[in-house]
Amino acid sequence: MTSTDAHDFGRYDPTTIAIAAGRPPRIAGGPVNTPVVFSSTFHAGGEVGYARESVPTWEAFEETLGLLEGGHCVSFASGLAALSAVLELVPVGGIVVAPDAGYSGALARLDALQEASRLTVRLVDVADASALRTACHGADLVFIESPTNPLLEICDLRALAVEIRASGALFVCDNTFATPLVQQPLALGADITLHSATKFISGHSDLLMGALVVSDPGLHERLHRIRHLTGGVPGPMESYLALRGLRTMPLRVRQAQASATELARRLTEHPAVTRVRYPGLPTDPGHAVAATQMNGFGAMLSVELRGSVADIDAMCGRTRLWVYATSLGGVESMLERRRRWDDEPKTVPAELVRLSVGCEDVEDLWADLSAALDTLSP
Ligand SMILES: *Cc1c(COP(=O)(O)O)cnc(C)c1O
Repeated sequence: MTSTDAHDFGRYDPTTIAIAAGRPPRIAGGPVNTPVVFSSTFHAGGEVGYARESVPTWEAFEETLGLLEGGHCVSFASGLAALSAVLELVPVGGIVVAPDAGYSGALARLDALQEASRLTVRLVDVADASALRTACHGADLVFIESPTNPLLEICDLRALAVEIRASGALFVCDNTFATPLVQQPLALGADITLHSATKFISGHSDLLMGALVVSDPGLHERLHRIRHLTGGVPGPMESYLALRGLRTMPLRVRQAQASATELARRLTEHPAVTRVRYPGLPTDPGHAVAATQMNGFGAMLSVELRGSVADIDAMCGRTRLWVYATSLGGVESMLERRRRWDDEPKTVPAELVRLSVGCEDVEDLWADLSAALDTLSP
């Protein structure tokens, strides 16, 4: 339904692609934006028959995100719906490798499927290359985050892709923290990139959506079919808002990333902070590998703090600009002690607070955060 063609876009910068792709044909008097199509069904005889197959509003979003990631995109109702579609590719009794400290929702889902004898999960520290190599042996699917949520660990994606190619497993990389602006897992050798589009892609904390992007047209078709039959489809309104957000993702991420770099440096010197996890810090264990596979280091960081968990939770509630809430990737900065959730892996320190840096002025963010942290200082 959209006029744009992948071949026209290869030469453009991501900032341009995010704005120019996914538009209707340029017809005099026609709309500039792909309309929100509220229709569950379509007149017989056309390309699409029913809205569980496709809706023009998703297609505009998928075209744009696909071009930014360098592949073909299938969008979903949420990041976890996208993960569920990927897991449909695993044979019954198959083996899935996953991070031992990754997104709690994904790990809880894998755990439930293991409980039901649907598949076997092998948890591994993604920063430990030799443990990862051992875990991948005989696996059907390797599901990796890099950077991980919330430990910001870095996996050597190129090296892992070589390892996995030899073993024949499918390689899925959750790229939610990095965004396609900062990291392109398909170019590094992954088969599937997964996004919670709820986060940086839509960028305004106003919707849930997910996406998969793949290079292989056959795999794209399989995932499209899985979505059609499992029904985890996004709504047209969400798709419209997500594309509207995606238009400014490169601008937002560049601003947030620059602020994250500065805040990470300042946080290392704050007396209430015992450790800063941010791959952009030269002292971070993931820095060297991250520098070879990322274009910048993203806008997520975590800090480990002095004080009881009750004191740390109270500190989170004392900020005025930073929003004390779960989720991430919005224009508004957010913070949260992740272990306040029962599902959070115990490999995450209880005193860890995850920071999602938004687009506010960095000095305002620092003043607000440092004042709250001062209340923890000995
Ligand atoms: C939030 C998140 C998800 C899940 O996405 P939803 O849109 O909430 O379903 C998956 N992976 C990561 C890294 C996330 O942060």
